[in-house]
Amino acid sequence: MQYYSLNKKAPNTSFKDCVIKGLAPDKGLYFPKNISALPKTFFENINDLSYSEIAFETIKQFVEPDIPEDVLKTIIEDTLSFDFPVVKLNDHISTLELFHGPTMAFKDVGARFMARCLEYFNKNNKEEVTVLVATSGDTGSAVANGFLGVKNVNVVILYPSGKVSDIQEKQLTTLRKNITALEVNGTFDDCQDMVKRAFLDEELTRKMQLTSANSINVARWLPQLFYFFFAYKQLHNKHKNIVFSIPSGNFGNICAGMMAQQLGLPIQHFIASNNENNVVTKYLQSQFYRPKPSVQTISNAMDVGNPSNFVRMQEIYKNNFETLKANLSSYSFTDAETKTAIQEIYTNYNYVADPHGAVGYLGAKAYLKENPDTHCVFLETAHPTKFLDIVENVIDVKMKLPKQIKSVIDEKKVSIKINNYKGLKTYLLK
Ligand SMILES: *Cc1c(COP(=O)(O)O)cnc(C)c1O
Repeated sequence: MQYYSLNKKAPNTSFKDCVIKGLAPDKGLYFPKNISALPKTFFENINDLSYSEIAFETIKQFVEPDIPEDVLKTIIEDTLSFDFPVVKLNDHISTLELFHGPTMAFKDVGARFMARCLEYFNKNNKEEVTVLVATSGDTGSAVANGFLGVKNVNVVILYPSGKVSDIQEKQLTTLRKNITALEVNGTFDDCQDMVKRAFLDEELTRKMQLTSANSINVARWLPQLFYFFFAYKQLHNKHKNIVFSIPSGNFGNICAGMMAQQLGLPIQHFIASNNENNVVTKYLQSQFYRPKPSVQTISNAMDVGNPSNFVRMQEIYKNNFETLKANLSSYSFTDAETKTAIQEIYTNYNYVADPHGAVGYLGAKAYLKENPDTHCVFLETAHPTKFLDIVENVIDVKMKLPKQIKSVIDEKKVSIKINNYKGLKTYLLK
């Protein structure tokens, strides 16, 4: 597959090059040149296919010929070593649980897939690659875990001191090996600015190969399309008119769903469920896209004021506002509404949702009011114990910690404190 830059000022390039570069030289996001729908027989036989077989068929066209089929099969097997169950709440609402991976957030799949692709591309390369990530919590731990022990790759995570949950901090700072956690005296925006500055710093980029691992990178973005097929496999015999409600921040996950739809998956509609960071909700109302600084909420992985995948979403629907609107609705909810939803889901369905999933549930409910003849699946993007304080407070129940969380809680935190960009640069150059 060839990819082009959405800024249209860089040459087309291969999957391999996209994965290594992350962003095109003109700072545009990469987008696949052609998308071929899957044959009808694939959908007719989907019940007979395993998750790995589904993943292979759906991603193949995007990675070939750079990754041979046998290697791709191994990468997929390694990536998908956990389950993706759909849990029914009532006749109109189900949730797709995406939190059964090692760090208990949906980003595990993309991070693991990308790490293994990079490992393959880099295997004959003596030079090390450094993956730089700024995180407000989930991204960093999924990326770090995905890359743990991968040869010739070092991961450097920047996180804002005192601004991630205790469990998230343990997940970031206890891995060791090729993973280093830099604890930044500042905010998430400061971390992100430092990372961006590093990518533009020629003194650094001359000396080392730097890459990013957020959903800008096609190898982290595209494997997320698997989820929608996995849900479809579990639901299509029982429900028609399947709609997905996706708790959205950078809009990578929802854009991956839209790619699944382009591959022919019969998804009736998408719901972008937002917290108070609602630029896309506003955009669909007004047709004006006005990015703004993010505000802090209890669903903090969605605290994004200028979603990086907005341009990909535009491209998928050919930059046609009416087509986009026919496929996408968006709602925005406050923290108070989110807490009420966590309580309601627990009381009515005996199900514990995390704050992100709860926003997805609210989006599904809002849509169902106008479109009662549908089945809405909201994505549960993180395990509720990752937001222990909030969730236990709302439902007043002590939760049992899953083994992935228990295993890090008693580990010793190891981080390097830095105060500014100079601190980052000194660390990278040493
Ligand atoms: C990253 C994240 C999101 C938002 O996903 P995007 O692809 O950035 O829209 C939602 N929920 C959780 C728990 C996350 O970690």
